Amino acid sequence: MITISEAKKILDDSLPEPVREDISLSEAAGRVLYTDLHALEPSPRYTNSAMDGFAVRWADIEPASRGIACQLALLGESQAGIPFDGTVGTGQAVRISTGAKLPDGADAVVPIEECTASGNELNIEIAHKPKQNIRFEGEEFTPDTRLIHKNVVLNPVHIALLASQGIRTVPVYRPARVAIIVTGTELVPYDAQPKPWQIRDSNGIMLTEAVLAGNGAIATLQRVGDDYEDTVRAAQTAAEQADIVIFSGGVSVGPHDLVKKAAAECGFERLFWRVRQRPGKPLFVAQKDSKLLFGLPGNPVSAYMCFLFYVTPVLRYLAGHGKDIRKVSGVMNTELVNKLTRAQMYRVMMRDGENGIREVIPIARQGSHMLTSVSDANGFILLEVGQALKKGDKVEVIPFS
Ligand code: AMP
Ligand code: MG
Repeated sequence: MITISEAKKILDDSLPEPVREDISLSEAAGRVLYTDLHALEPSPRYTNSAMDGFAVRWADIEPASRGIACQLALLGESQAGIPFDGTVGTGQAVRISTGAKLPDGADAVVPIEECTASGNELNIEIAHKPKQNIRFEGEEFTPDTRLIHKNVVLNPVHIALLASQGIRTVPVYRPARVAIIVTGTELVPYDAQPKPWQIRDSNGIMLTEAVLAGNGAIATLQRVGDDYEDTVRAAQTAAEQADIVIFSGGVSVGPHDLVKKAAAECGFERLFWRVRQRPGKPLFVAQKDSKLLFGLPGNPVSAYMCFLFYVTPVLRYLAGHGKDIRKVSGVMNTELVNKLTRAQMYRVMMRDGENGIREVIPIARQGSHMLTSVSDANGFILLEVGQALKKGDKVEVIPFS
């Protein structure tokens, strides 16, 4: 049986290449950019007014900056979307709105609040500096300026920036397409009534949500009993339609655990089976070309913890998020000893204690069949064989989200 770090290393060496796709801007939020993106147009697109007011020539209003009032003749208007079709000459002014194109001849804007207009006459008593209240074409950036770095997760403002440039499709990482196959003759859909010897399939919906939360996409979800032919058929369909195949259950040592054999029949080669860990000892991972197959143990806790620790990082990597696993540090609020011969993914609850210290409280019941050991927790620690933590020890926690 291999260790957790050996399993991780094998998986890391077998990762497929991330794939690019070009998608429409309206679907790109939350996706990771594949290449740098550059400006196509200057920003602002044209020189315009930063205020509602009057476009003037600085030479005409400069005396107002020294306390000498000046009078100008109003010529017309430049509205946002309807530019003034003429030139502002000496002694002249044009009414202008915020964002409206600055008329030819003008080189300053006087805000409404700093002048008085009566009829066609404008009286200006205050002026500050040349070029005041003007946004110049290209002052933010010019064409070819890099706007967004590759590997950035696109947020609403990135999307707006690209929209302002008329960029309608963006190159992003394509999320891995995942096929889930839930095995077990004892299972019924969670919305059906089980007979006394049956249970509801809770892994199917759990893994579906976990795929989406881990930045993957669902290709298919199938449910099969513990039947060899059905399992082979399901694996074949999954391998045709997805980049990653995930089995729930059927990877242990019982006579009805058929996934390993079915995977081999479909051409998947074993990367490893069984890891010195709890939960999730029977974890099975295989590969066929660039496709990975994960056989997660059926116990819901094992399935989830193996998914979180082994599958989520692969999905995140393929979606462009890199390989780092987020960890936070905290302080044990009690002692904790690993007396098993396997490393443990020990579920814990982190809570903000006094003085801003994050307290780490182990969840008492850690059974692989007890989903509350996960639902009551908000992270887990990797506890090596023989490791003994004392109250007050600093530990690294892998948060659930
Ligand atoms: P297996 O790995 O197939 O031997 O299953 C281990 C345990 O997990 C058994 O008690 C199963 O009944 C349970 N189990 C397997 N699949 C599911 C599932 N989809 N939802 C809930 N429990 C399951
Ligand atoms: Mg089973």
